[in-house]
Amino acid sequence: MPAAAIALASASVATFQGAANSLKAAGDIVRTLINMKVTADVQAKVIELQGIIMSAQTDAMSAQASQMDLLNRVRELESELSRSERWAAEQQRYELTRVMASTVYVVKQSAMQPGEPLHAICPECYEKERKSILQATPRSEGAAHGCPACKAKYQFWKLEREST
Ligand SMILES: [Zn+2]
Repeated sequence: MPAAAIALASASVATFQGAANSLKAAGDIVRTLINMKVTADVQAKVIELQGIIMSAQTDAMSAQASQMDLLNRVRELESELSRSERWAAEQQRYELTRVMASTVYVVKQSAMQPGEPLHAICPECYEKERKSILQATPRSEGAAHGCPACKAKYQFWKLEREST
């Protein structure tokens, strides 16, 4: 559906380009007419026509700009949608787990990929749809794990599952 929307928007941009080209051709003809030997009445009408064509050109350009804005917005939304879809899939790999004095999101055993170590991600960042793997900190800091992104500290020394 978003791909169809982009195709539609692109087609409209091409249509606007066609209209702009036609208007430019009409404007050229009018300029030629103005320079021809004609009666004052015809001259006045030709000048009126020139005004109408110029106004149509302005409208066409403004419509094209709006169309480009819409096309950009569709692209932004598409990118946001795929980011959300990726996050939704990533979320499914973790479960909220109590580890010693802290509650963090730990990767599910069934969702672990080959070679992937057991790890926990920050619950604060998780709520903001951001994955941040907790890292061990020096014991002198008073908390054994910290989030590199939001700097939250968590009180657990060894990551292991209490149940399952
Ligand atoms: Zn965090």
